[in-house]
Amino acid sequence: MIANTTQFDLRSKLPNIKESIFSVMSQHARANNAINLSQGFPNFPCSDQLIALVNKYMQEGYNQYAPAYGVMELRETLAQKVNKQYGIEVKPESEITVTAGATQAIFTAILGLIREGDEVIVFDPAYDSYVPSIKMAGGMPIHVSLKGPDYKIPWDEVKKKISFKTKMIILNTPHNPCGTCIDEDDIEQLKIITSGNNILILSDEVYEHAIFDDNKHYSLLGSDLAERNISVFSFGKVLHTTGWKIGYCVAPNYLMKEIRKVHQFNVFSVNTPMQYAINEFYKNEGNYSSVSNFYEQKRDFFLNLMKESRFSFVPSAGTYFQLMNYSDISKQSDVDFALKLVQEHGVASIPVSVFYNDKTDEKVLRFCFAKTDETLEKAAEKLCKI
Ligand code: PMP
Ligand code: GLN
Repeated sequence: MIANTTQFDLRSKLPNIKESIFSVMSQHARANNAINLSQGFPNFPCSDQLIALVNKYMQEGYNQYAPAYGVMELRETLAQKVNKQYGIEVKPESEITVTAGATQAIFTAILGLIREGDEVIVFDPAYDSYVPSIKMAGGMPIHVSLKGPDYKIPWDEVKKKISFKTKMIILNTPHNPCGTCIDEDDIEQLKIITSGNNILILSDEVYEHAIFDDNKHYSLLGSDLAERNISVFSFGKVLHTTGWKIGYCVAPNYLMKEIRKVHQFNVFSVNTPMQYAINEFYKNEGNYSSVSNFYEQKRDFFLNLMKESRFSFVPSAGTYFQLMNYSDISKQSDVDFALKLVQEHGVASIPVSVFYNDKTDEKVLRFCFAKTDETLEKAAEKLCKI
């Protein structure tokens, strides 16, 4: 298309936002015929039973709009799940909304709750959708950096950055890309920080079922902070169906009311047959409770192979990502080293500096281990030769 762009006064709303690193690295992987451990998605199939259930509901004619906030049966099942796991009573009618993936839940919650000039605390390295969502809502991201190799939250620094404009803190546990999880102390610190003020918490818990080494998932839903919290989940991560883009959020009614006002105009509702199928699939608890164990085995398989390499690492405590430090191999920037890795060694990864506002480069790459053992074996073989 030929357009005379000079005649349009288009000031970008997000002038500094480039194409997502996940798309960029996956394109490099394809162009170089490399093993793709960059973008986080499984390269193995989801359950046949789940596919059969989607098929069944499609054949039976469940193909029109679902209710705006989600199929009621699914919301009821989720309310029971949340109650059993985190000990909190959640009303399916008013406190759970099914969304087009966690990304839409995050965007919608931020758009519904953040106003022009509100400050939102974000921990870097941060999942890439948080900051653009805050900015589109007119809010101001306030960055707090986590430093490797432990990536603990520096609560003293958080306290210093709280102001009368702070409206929200975005938490992500288990954390992408760090593979860390919050603990009781972190919840305690959050309680202290938010005591007596109006600060909300947006808790991204999409990896709640990828927790390793018998650790517990500290959901904000199971804490005293639930009254000021929105927890976000993704079926894509649990069911190995990232392409279905379906998830949900849970929040008290006074927050959910505002979130739903936005939700009904940015998607209205989410695909119907998948919701019925997931509802039936989730009736068997084992279908989600086994996922942590499954990914722990993947992590161990990959790390066992990587012991022979010159990369150094702290085993991931959750998510399906593993950080690897390459400072014993190269002094190159992580972006350059990731490019070299995909172009010359045939393995795609994600340079972690892209998730930092100030582009902190600790010489660390993120590898996704949600892959078949064969893929992990081939990738580790290449990485061990470097
Ligand atoms: N939050 C985090 C931390 C993620 O890693 C992802 C995707 N991998 C999302 C949110 C988005 O999830 P969804 O694909 O369900 O939109
Ligand atoms: N969440 C996935 C990751 O961290 C990718 C999601 C996406 O491609 N937008 O790799």
